[in-house]
Amino acid sequence: MRKEILNKLKDANPKLSYSIVLEGKEKGPHLMIFGSVHGNEPAGTMGFFKFQEELDKSKATLQKGKLTFVLGNPLAFEKDVRFIDENLNRAFPGSQDTYEGKRAKEISEYIETNEIEALLDIHSLGHGDFKLVIYNVESEKNQHLARSISPIVDHFAYHLDHVSGLLVEKATQHGASSMVIETGNHTNPEGALVALNHLKSFLAHYQLIGHQFAPTTDFQQSIGQQETCIYETLRILKPTPGFRFTVDFSDDEVGTLIPKDSPYAQDNKRQYIAERDLYLVMPHKEITYEDHDVGFICIKKTI
Ligand SMILES: [Zn+2]
Repeated sequence: MRKEILNKLKDANPKLSYSIVLEGKEKGPHLMIFGSVHGNEPAGTMGFFKFQEELDKSKATLQKGKLTFVLGNPLAFEKDVRFIDENLNRAFPGSQDTYEGKRAKEISEYIETNEIEALLDIHSLGHGDFKLVIYNVESEKNQHLARSISPIVDHFAYHLDHVSGLLVEKATQHGASSMVIETGNHTNPEGALVALNHLKSFLAHYQLIGHQFAPTTDFQQSIGQQETCIYETLRILKPTPGFRFTVDFSDDEVGTLIPKDSPYAQDNKRQYIAERDLYLVMPHKEITYEDHDVGFICIKKTI
């Protein structure tokens, strides 16, 4: 199955390997969708092929514009592993001489030489089974896009100082609206449907597809119905020598509350104490000292 997908995509777009371009009947915006930026996260890739199958069955094409679908990390996808040499989603714009460094460079050049209106990057989780939207909060249009196309109520809104090397960041720098979705756990069979609904909602938002390819009614009706809970980054936690968390956190919650004045972690030098009510988001279960981060400290806002 994976081999077949890779063979279909390898040379489909002469301008970027392992990607495919769908062209609309009329001129319109150029969008990009990514699946499997982490090779063990098939939801986005499966969602795209389901969509393409629906188009083929109806002998339809996009009504306007252009979509480039990219399989992010082909070799890691083939082996069903997160990455080969390094995390591709920390490797942008691609300066290292690693498998992912070279792939990030190739993708970056494509983004630079095309006028991309918006980018959707589809992921899933290794721990926990919640859904989450992620974007750079400093560009207002990202939050607007997220709230327009997705019913996911939890948002991880990061500041550029706290996260680097993301694919969506490369797109944001070039003026594109961009966002990541986490469709739930890698093993959740609904992941491909969550991906498919978001993909359609994204394409419909820019009018690349019409009503006949709209997301499910449930999905559409739940957009904007509930309060959005925004976890905005205050700082990144680094894997300093001896670092460990001293609070319990659940796999099923996006953010763990750390009440003001409570300790939440320690390392060889100090204890970490909450200076106000804080939220711990995406803490790593196992601390690896080569990791870029081991979690984020956020404040929570609802809108
Ligand atoms: Zn991922």
